[in-house]
Amino acid sequence: MSHHEKSEPGRLKYILFNLITDPVLVIDDQMRVVIHNQAALKFFPRCDMRQHSQFSDVAEHISNRQVVLNMVALGLEGKRVKKNVVMFINEREYTGGLTVEPGPKTTSSEQHRPWVVLVFKDSTAYQRLQKRMTQDEFFDRSSGLLNRRSLDIVLETELEKASRSSSRAKLALMMIQITNLEGLKLAFGPKISNIIFEQVGNNIREALRLSDMIFHYDDNRILAIVTQFEWKSDLLIVAERVEDQIAVPFHHQETDIHLRACIGITIFPEDGSEKDQLISNSTAALAQAIEIGKPWLIFNDDVHQQALDRLFLRSGLTKAVRENELQLRYMALVNAEGQICGVEALVRWMHPERGLLGPDQFLPIAIHSHIIGALTRWVLYRLIEDYQKHFSKLDIFCTFNISAVDLEDLYLPISIQTAIKGKMDPSKIKIEITESEFMENYDRAQTAIESFRQHGFDVLIDDFGVGNSSLSYLKDLSARYAKIDKSFLTDIVESALELDFLHHIVALCKVRNIIVLLEGIETQAQFEKLTSSGADLFQGHFFGTPMTVEELMRRFAEHKVFSD
Ligand code: C2E
Ligand code: MG
Ligand code: MG
Repeated sequence: MSHHEKSEPGRLKYILFNLITDPVLVIDDQMRVVIHNQAALKFFPRCDMRQHSQFSDVAEHISNRQVVLNMVALGLEGKRVKKNVVMFINEREYTGGLTVEPGPKTTSSEQHRPWVVLVFKDSTAYQRLQKRMTQDEFFDRSSGLLNRRSLDIVLETELEKASRSSSRAKLALMMIQITNLEGLKLAFGPKISNIIFEQVGNNIREALRLSDMIFHYDDNRILAIVTQFEWKSDLLIVAERVEDQIAVPFHHQETDIHLRACIGITIFPEDGSEKDQLISNSTAALAQAIEIGKPWLIFNDDVHQQALDRLFLRSGLTKAVRENELQLRYMALVNAEGQICGVEALVRWMHPERGLLGPDQFLPIAIHSHIIGALTRWVLYRLIEDYQKHFSKLDIFCTFNISAVDLEDLYLPISIQTAIKGKMDPSKIKIEITESEFMENYDRAQTAIESFRQHGFDVLIDDFGVGNSSLSYLKDLSARYAKIDKSFLTDIVESALELDFLHHIVALCKVRNIIVLLEGIETQAQFEKLTSSGADLFQGHFFGTPMTVEELMRRFAEHKVFSD
């Protein structure tokens, strides 16, 4: 990356490095600046590589120098640190996000890193530009975010677009309130809320997609329009990402300010088709979320009722696990010849008053209230029982689903091993984890997968391809199976392009020796198109909806697929 390098790739890297308009510095463990880009010179005119300047000298003109130095020190101990800051450099104000990214581990020590990369994501220019546009009627004068007038226009257009669209894609509004803003204003003066709003706005944008938009709604609220998602669970992932972004501490006047936020969510078309109705429903959901102390809440005709429902379900769930109100359904996994090779266990709750509930209705509650560990074990024990009683006669394997919280449980692999001892061969059990949950904590998930594999259990990445992953993770993925998300199958019969795309995804996995499952096959036509795709296993309503073990065994008998 240095300009002394003469080779072609070296020069190209150097040019690219200098194209980055944010200042980037590489600082070694002697606190010397070893590499910097051109943009860094603007901030730190004292950067001089040939002399290997001391970073403490380079940073001399930063108002919060000590904070920055501490961040670098933490980075050298292997910690990734991110902070939002307002810095005065040579008397000039800069706003943005400061990130210290640790370099690779050295062999000598676990923590110690030979160098760190310091990046300052400068949003000053962007904010100045937006501020200049505040004369314009579409921007809020104080924060530089789009104002309510813009919201009216944009939302109307988006709603019209969404109602014309034939796909299942939906639109949602997220009303985001910074709940401790009043206190901060009292502590730091009224100007702080403008700075916070600007910075929070920028951070929330990072959690959203480019097609999504945010608006300054009022004193302490920001409204986001989230477009083109299919499942409620996707929306909740976005809500959690927004929460995470808001949780990045904000450094101001020598202290770290921690913001707290609540989110009220409303979905088009379920919760309303009119603009005003959707907005007022999101406000109602927000008020309810604040009242019951939830980070977010989705509006549903009667939010109040729903909030009570959650509390009601939550208190019943512990009992459900204990008193066997849970049930399992099974879905077949078949090969290209249509023979059943395995089954996936899916949990249900036979609620004494509500009837049969699907996982969407109670899993989030189980996860948030830490009942999930007990639920996962219940599923496992019931699966083993069913295996012993029924499946052991057949030559099939069983899969069951776990959640991100289960990955934190270091004893899970051993628990499974103990539970199946003498009852089931480890090769007959596989563990499904959805890609999005996997990506929540990539390092932890990789370690967990390795541990499962060491105990003889294969891991399968569920809903593969939609979980915000990058292709690079495929490279060192230690899971042996991938179940490609059903959304990739929707249009394959009508569109040769979609089919081709799916073929390429399958091929990509195959190059990495990953066994591929296709999920969500609903029609004969789909199955016919897919048998030659190179995928190994298939699943979907075409082969039967989730059924009880008795129903499944009847199917087996009818299809005469017993292996004997
Ligand atoms: P998943 O693991 O991806 O399971 C597949 C879901 O898609 C199931 O919904 C299944 O009924 C549905 N499905 C399968 N084939 C088709 C098809 O051809 N068309 C359509 N429209 N849908 C199809 P279900 O049973 O409601 O489960 C939803 C999710 O809940 C599961 O997604 C899984 O992530 C989670 N889940 C289910 N059981 C458990 C469990 O015991 N523990 C944990 N942690 N999660 C579970
Ligand atoms: Mg699954
Ligand atoms: Mg799936």
